[in-house]
Amino acid sequence: MQKTNHINSINPAQILGQDEKHLYYVSERVAIHQAMKNAFDAMVYAAKDHNIELTIASGFRSFDRQLMLWNNKFSGKTPIKDSAGNIVTSAELSPLELMHSILLYSALPGASRHHWGCDIDVYAPNLLAQGYQLQLEPWEYSEQGPLAKLSAWLIQHAHKFGFYFPYANFQGGVAKEPWHISYLPLAQQYQQAFDIDLLAQTLSRSCILGKSVIIENLDDIAKRYINNVCAAPTNVILAKDLEY
Ligand SMILES: [Zn+2]
Repeated sequence: MQKTNHINSINPAQILGQDEKHLYYVSERVAIHQAMKNAFDAMVYAAKDHNIELTIASGFRSFDRQLMLWNNKFSGKTPIKDSAGNIVTSAELSPLELMHSILLYSALPGASRHHWGCDIDVYAPNLLAQGYQLQLEPWEYSEQGPLAKLSAWLIQHAHKFGFYFPYANFQGGVAKEPWHISYLPLAQQYQQAFDIDLLAQTLSRSCILGKSVIIENLDDIAKRYINNVCAAPTNVILAKDLEY
């Protein structure tokens, strides 16, 4: 199926996390979209001026990796947490309830914004005590948390580099994720190119756990989680204005 105009350049496999040709490796294990590198570097440099070592905890994630994360949660191998950080007793849940409790923090494989390479989870190791294990929980980024300074800086400055928070607030779908930032010039193209039929086909062919409950509820999942992201504020500078 042909897509139109500017989204022509996006390979459908890239939306699903099944293509890695667009990636630039920041380190051995962390990759981002090549077209985001300059904006990201400029933001890192600016944060350093404020003694914040802006670092990626999680960048690009492939379909297969997201599938493994999903299946580990669905099978009970990895604990599932609620928004307060408490462990959910998954054995007592129906498949539908289990699916929703996973979707609070983990996207469906094929529907994660981390597939695109332009969405990243960030932290600042220099603000954490030695040996501290990052949990990626909201309290760590709150005013009382160790990453409060990073959060405040991002809220004040990230937009100047084209970044915004798609999970700034809980809207009934994905939990509030103050660590997740998105590079709007690229992310808006991927978001527009998202194709639910392609996702359904891909999941049908995969070995995802909970397949039938997922496929049956896919329209609802798209409405409540995939498309239910916070709008980018108008002060986020668009690609045409970025000088990086
Ligand atoms: Zn994230």
